[in-house]
Amino acid sequence: MTRRLLIAGNWKMNLSLAASLELAEGLKKAAAGINNVDIAVCPPSVYVQPVAAALKGSNIGVGAQNVYFEKEGAFTGEISVGMLKDVGCQYVILGHSERRHILGESSEIVNVKTHAVLAAGLIPIVCVGELLKEREAGTTELVIRKQFDGSFSGVAADDMKKCVIAYEPVWAIGTGKVATPEQAEEVHAAIRKMIEKNYNKEVAESVRIQYGGSVNDKNAKEILAKPNVDGALVGGASLKVDPFLGIIKSA
Ligand code: PEP
Repeated sequence: MTRRLLIAGNWKMNLSLAASLELAEGLKKAAAGINNVDIAVCPPSVYVQPVAAALKGSNIGVGAQNVYFEKEGAFTGEISVGMLKDVGCQYVILGHSERRHILGESSEIVNVKTHAVLAAGLIPIVCVGELLKEREAGTTELVIRKQFDGSFSGVAADDMKKCVIAYEPVWAIGTGKVATPEQAEEVHAAIRKMIEKNYNKEVAESVRIQYGGSVNDKNAKEILAKPNVDGALVGGASLKVDPFLGIIKSA
């Protein structure tokens, strides 16, 4: 089965409104006509609406970097899935390592958010990944199995097929230390086996598994060529048109 690659940019807490719009307009022009790969950008939540408006009618989708799982109510400071959908958002990154490790987001929280995102018809991009000390201790697969089981608990097979998983080794995020294509492929293949074990082969073959961690326009091609790597979640290199376009073209 051929899975459509997804290249998504995670802008994190970067850029001003003007810079976000400039980047969106630049990407819109530069990526026009590229339709063999899915493309998305995930601006800070306050810029989702203007960026989605700027990208309307283009081949670039818009995602958020987080969401709250309740529909509405007394949850000061939070944003619901319905609100994101309302302003043109299609994807939501969940369980990014910066949220898991800096903000203490657990797989249980990621799980309720995954259910909320799916129920609204949006696509969750659920991040998993091990710390350097966990890799060195040989527990990578165990750590990811726990994050996977926790994050997708109770998700039905048909919904699972719509999910995107981003394998992001924490030691590779923003460090310039990219996993080798072989290291990425090994973990991606293991994740696909986990999906097959919990669901079945058809579901496992449908789910897109992105790699994330210091991907740039120079190393993307080799990583994206691996059979179980179905795209990239890109931080730093998504903040400028040329490197992000280079990654898109590598796909
Ligand atoms: C990320 O934040 O998801 C990420 C992969 O960042 P970077 O590409 O900068 O390592």
